[in-house]
Amino acid sequence: MMDSPAHGAPRTWREIHLAPVAQLDEGTLERLALELSKRSALPCRAVPPPLAGELPRVPNRPQLDADRLLVSLEPLAEVDAPLVGITAVDIAVPIFAYVFGRARLGGRAVVISLARLDPEHYGLPRDPGLVARRAAAEILHELGHAAGLAHCEDPACLMRFAASVEAADLRGATFCADCAARLPHGLVRSTAGAPQG
Ligand SMILES: [Zn+2]
Ligand SMILES: [Zn+2]
Repeated sequence: MMDSPAHGAPRTWREIHLAPVAQLDEGTLERLALELSKRSALPCRAVPPPLAGELPRVPNRPQLDADRLLVSLEPLAEVDAPLVGITAVDIAVPIFAYVFGRARLGGRAVVISLARLDPEHYGLPRDPGLVARRAAAEILHELGHAAGLAHCEDPACLMRFAASVEAADLRGATFCADCAARLPHGLVRSTAGAPQG
């Protein structure tokens, strides 16, 4: 978060663009688009890799630099379609050991890493479905920032800060009513009368 929050009426988004940053396994982007579509009423579309060549790394570390990736992605996003960069490589910023994702308040792009959402990272069995569910939640959290939302204190709100994957799992997959009211129309499906899960 680098800018002050956007005020006023929620922004209008037409669709969400999901783009690979560095190599992704076959089918990963499509699986994420499908999972995100269960939660968002906006069309979720896989787009070609937006960045070519050498990707920015955190100096002296094996991780990609999340903030510099954002700077590269933002000018490539369409005004009414946030660009979600997705990488399997671990990401960080110089002051943090790692981040799950990164966004700028009021920004046009977000970036997330699947590396630490993967149970295999913690020595647990492979589970692509779990990775997709966690990634969809993380994408919505970062898009919340892009829409101008800061972190929320509600323990069951997706905008709550999470420093670990366990904490991220605990905050669930939905926004509190206050945060939901400030999101772009259609970013999350109306859950009125629908079972959660
Ligand atoms: Zn956050
Ligand atoms: Zn909230």
